[in-house]
Amino acid sequence: MLDTLPDRQYRCGVAEVVKYGVIMDAEFFDFLERSAEAINRHEAETISKIVAHSCRLKADVVEEDEFETTGRRAILNYGHTFAHAFETSSDYEELQHGEAVAIGMICAAHLAEKLGRIDDSLNRRQRSLWKKLGLPTVVPKHLLGIDLISVMRRDKKSQGGKLRFVLPSRLGHVELVENVNEDLVRQVIRETAVTT
Ligand SMILES: [Zn+2]
Repeated sequence: MLDTLPDRQYRCGVAEVVKYGVIMDAEFFDFLERSAEAINRHEAETISKIVAHSCRLKADVVEEDEFETTGRRAILNYGHTFAHAFETSSDYEELQHGEAVAIGMICAAHLAEKLGRIDDSLNRRQRSLWKKLGLPTVVPKHLLGIDLISVMRRDKKSQGGKLRFVLPSRLGHVELVENVNEDLVRQVIRETAVTT
């Protein structure tokens, strides 16, 4: 079934799979790094393994927090606060969900680094994995002219207009961080719009 998808949609799905590695399973992230070429070739054994594993990880989180009471489930939102703002502010053809998430994860890791939560290695690994997998790493330039902070405040997952982000504290572990300084968020978006 995955082989019937346009390549772009396939890559979008892969971005969401990598998210599970970053938020809760460093070993899985290692595996995805090693398997990038097999993933690009749509190798059946690798694909079935990563689909099964990411479904298992998601089920674990949802089971632990079935009614969204403990906050555990929020970790699934990694990269998505940025992504939703990017998606809302551009048209669907330009940026599909998985692509927006890919860029959002780059921004989130960059923000975590700026806050001193992680060193630059997670950032570098995530970025180089996106390049191997053909996913975007840069915020489209036209989004810089838009007040993305206001868009984020209106996000359905933001509470009372406060800026909160799911940020890594190491590979395989994330935390919900409240009241992030908005100037820092703007700076991160600006810096991620510049190709490095
Ligand atoms: Zn998503």
